[in-house]
Amino acid sequence: MIQKDTIAAQVTYPGKSSVGIIRISGINTKKVAIKILGKIPKPRFATYSKFLNENNQILDHGISLWFPAPFSFTGEDILELQGHGSPFIMDLLMKRILSVKNTRLAKPGEFCERAFLNGKIDLIQAEAIDDLINSETESMVKASLNSLQGNFSYYIHNLVKTLIKFRVDIESSIDFSEEEINFNFDDIIDNNFQKLNNQFSKIQKIITNKSIVREAKKIIIVGPPNAGKSSLLNILSSYNRAIVTNIPGTTRDLIHEHININGFLCEIIDTAGFHDTQDKIEKIGINRAWETIKTSDHILFVIDKTISVESQRKISNEFIKKVRSYNNSIQITFVLNKNDLLKDDFGVKKIENFNFISISALTGQGIDTLKKYLVKIENNKEKEGLFIARRRHVHQIELSYSQFLKAKQHWLKYKNIELLAESLSLINRLIGEITGSFTSNDLLNRIFSTFCIGK
Ligand code: GDP
Repeated sequence: MIQKDTIAAQVTYPGKSSVGIIRISGINTKKVAIKILGKIPKPRFATYSKFLNENNQILDHGISLWFPAPFSFTGEDILELQGHGSPFIMDLLMKRILSVKNTRLAKPGEFCERAFLNGKIDLIQAEAIDDLINSETESMVKASLNSLQGNFSYYIHNLVKTLIKFRVDIESSIDFSEEEINFNFDDIIDNNFQKLNNQFSKIQKIITNKSIVREAKKIIIVGPPNAGKSSLLNILSSYNRAIVTNIPGTTRDLIHEHININGFLCEIIDTAGFHDTQDKIEKIGINRAWETIKTSDHILFVIDKTISVESQRKISNEFIKKVRSYNNSIQITFVLNKNDLLKDDFGVKKIENFNFISISALTGQGIDTLKKYLVKIENNKEKEGLFIARRRHVHQIELSYSQFLKAKQHWLKYKNIELLAESLSLINRLIGEITGSFTSNDLLNRIFSTFCIGK
């Protein structure tokens, strides 16, 4: 994709430093090279050069690097000028570069955006570059590098390949009459469904076990009214963020709080208590809580432990059943609150694959155990082959997988091939948004505007 503007930016940090680097990319880069260097340097070679002003006097000496299109990061002609890192020299050089027609300052992330638009990298890799720059730990660096090398994209591309083959099988059959269709057609469809299902499950598994989500982990607190949800938010965030009363229905909307639990950043969301209510506002609050569950990483389901064990079982089982129809991969932990009123032990118990943690949000007993447990879940991930994922990717996989399950259900019920073709095309578009093969300009702008200038 040819862009008419040539872009330029200082890629090193502004301010005094030993070296300052300016990058120029676009169709007029040759003109910039001739204007500043008097010639086009040898491709991919470090050339010691004089940087000239309009009177051909020397502005600075430095290294010039020339990467002709399409063998450059952006896929366009790129010139890099490495001069002395004086803000004054950098400023004079930039002015000189920008005096070339149709050359302007690059917007944040615009070099990455051009690399993406020219098919040099996919969207996951472009985001990995930004993640790499913003990494704060060694494992974040490794995970970003893995994503940049295409480790995550590989799984998505394979999924798309299988999906496209399925679509070809389906679309080609639409043009034939029933008699002409291969008698094994149902088997072919079943086979394709099976293959796609396996690939979706594999991706969900690696997202759960091997991905570091760059944004804060989203932990949602839900449960019946008066179980102690707001008290739990308050004690985790160490201040009285939510109003606590013994009046059911006090929290009606979502309350978000960003907290740091032993060095691990998370967003905790307190919600309206789940129960049958006629109160219009409470109803909206409960619906919002269910909507938010879809995009959360972890649910803390709070139960008042002073109610009978049978009631606890009933509430937890009903919740598990319902939540699985919303979000299949979300982690669920049951928090048995108000343990201070009982003589039971504090701590974690595992019952049928679920963890139950006894605490008191009033006295703070068991809270340290809960915090350590939350951090442990994050740290338990297999360290080798970790990659970085953004919430956008996780959400898009969830969305496309639930569409896939719906498509399968509809197929089994109606055996309607046109409907199946439509659904597969929608799933293709949803997955395509992850790598950027189907992406609106609006989404691209949102993604690249968060990058830094010069990237
Ligand atoms: P929510 O409706 O689930 O958000 O519940 P709240 O946090 O508002 O608490 C409901 C009532 O239970 C309040 O009166 C709290 O003081 C009380 N409460 C909350 N946690 C505990 C606890 O661990 N022990 C005891 N004894 N009372 C609690």
